Amino acid sequence: MIKKWVPALGIIVLFGLSFTACPMEGEPDGPDRTVDVVVVGSGIAGSMAALSAREAGAGKVLLIEKRAIFGGTAKLSQGGFATAVVNAKNNPQESLNDWKAWMQDGDSGYPDYDKFLSVAGQAGDAVEYLRSLGLIIIGQVSGGGNALMTKLEETITAQNIEVLLGCEAMEITLDNGVVSGIAAIYRHRSFRIKAKNVMLATGGFSRNPELVAQWAGTNPGLTYVVSLADSGSAGDGILMARRIGAALYSNAFTKIAGLQFSAALRGISAFAQPALLSPAPAPLSTQILVNNEAKRIMDEAIGGSFGNVSSYNSGAAYIMIKDGKPPYYILYDADSGPAGMMDLTASLEAGAALGNGEVLKAQTLNNLAVAMDVPAGTLKDTVTRYNGFADSEDGDFGKHHSYIKRIETPPFYAVKAYPNSYGSMGGVVTDSNGRVFDEAGNVIPHLYAVGEVSNRDFYNESYIGGASLALYSTAGRIAGKATGGK
Ligand SMILES: Cc1cc2nc3c(=O)[nH]c(=O)nc-3n(C[C@H](O)[C@H](O)[C@H](O)COP(=O)(O)OP(=O)(O)OC[C@H]3O[C@@H](n4cnc5c(N)ncnc54)[C@H](O)[C@@H]3O)c2cc1C
Repeated sequence: MIKKWVPALGIIVLFGLSFTACPMEGEPDGPDRTVDVVVVGSGIAGSMAALSAREAGAGKVLLIEKRAIFGGTAKLSQGGFATAVVNAKNNPQESLNDWKAWMQDGDSGYPDYDKFLSVAGQAGDAVEYLRSLGLIIIGQVSGGGNALMTKLEETITAQNIEVLLGCEAMEITLDNGVVSGIAAIYRHRSFRIKAKNVMLATGGFSRNPELVAQWAGTNPGLTYVVSLADSGSAGDGILMARRIGAALYSNAFTKIAGLQFSAALRGISAFAQPALLSPAPAPLSTQILVNNEAKRIMDEAIGGSFGNVSSYNSGAAYIMIKDGKPPYYILYDADSGPAGMMDLTASLEAGAALGNGEVLKAQTLNNLAVAMDVPAGTLKDTVTRYNGFADSEDGDFGKHHSYIKRIETPPFYAVKAYPNSYGSMGGVVTDSNGRVFDEAGNVIPHLYAVGEVSNRDFYNESYIGGASLALYSTAGRIAGKATGGK
């Protein structure tokens, strides 16, 4: 049941949430706002949507962001822009063919090629717009996501689009069953935004373990994935839309990228983030990775490194998730360090000294197995067999012998490695203009969703590097235009 605002009581009860009184007229943050478009989320999709709504004639555009920092995951990104998406404007058929070829792996019922082409066909305009702001984009934004989002924040400010940082949307409000705005919390107080159109751009759900388990947790390995996305990616927009009847995509998944050491090891040079393994200098690929049965599961030198970020389907992280037997350990001995690069042994020692279980050390493989809680006989067999390949070829996974280095010099170390993700695929069902559908397949008037909050249609079971910024910037631009002035 949709509960209504009851401002006369000074307390608002909405879906079980209590809101204290709104800021009063004259208070620094009051009164509540009435706008044409409220954009929820300051990532790439939300920023582009806000700017394009303004460009299309929307008078008052308000962008709210729950974090204290503008830019979301987009700000953390490397700034890669998928070339095929950008080229789709001039060469749609070729781009579509590329996309189809890349998307062959999997049988998920996605992508929606028509929607992809509709959005990607306008990506050239989005890139031209970004370039007109002074950004240099040649397959990647010069300066990465930080430069991209800094420029967009500056442009938004210059366009007199109001931005409220630290303002968290809690619910989509309805008047007589029609979307009428957002109920938010701002500076610990309730805050109502009345809007003709609501634009959800809240990112994905990869930082919400419960939602990952619920929507994407079909494989036990997934519970082991560490998301590198911004902490704002908690699925808020998806949940809010769901509560007013929006349909959700099936077969959601997280966007697996490379490997990650624990954040608890971040202060140690060899384990600083992002993990050196992704991509790794070749010598690091001489290590082996074992699962909780002490068994190898891959050629650890895939693409010359663990977890080659450009081949999401064959990378180490993806294989680990399919294997689904965490924890995973990378084994080192006293002689593992790549000559001249760093003192790896010092890092291993520093990690072991933390005593938090992320780096284990033992004088024998047997004792290491006990510390790892894996079968000692299997670990010994795995290492012995691997060492035997040093004189021939990897008879199990085909690892090139130049990457095989015996593990034989005590002490031995085992370092926990985690697959990481760059976000999620799924969200609320939308059309190519970002309009949200309900479960009966009807458009929910005045409600839009763009970016990772609604991205399932663009992918099958894997991800293509650089697709997000290219597609979500375009989707934001399209949807902002659709709301503009209406
Ligand atoms: C390390 C890393 C590197 C990456 N590199 C690339 C790359 O090179 N190229 C590429 O294409 N993609 C890359 N990606 C993926 C890409 O950055 C994201 O998919 C993309 O930024 C998502 O954009 P978005 O606008 O949908 O969401 P976001 O950028 O995550 O923005 C969503 C915003 O909404 C806010 N929000 C959430 N809930 C609320 C709420 N209730 N109220 C108010 N605000 C809310 C969040 O705090 C956040 O700021 C990378 C991802 C990571 C993690």
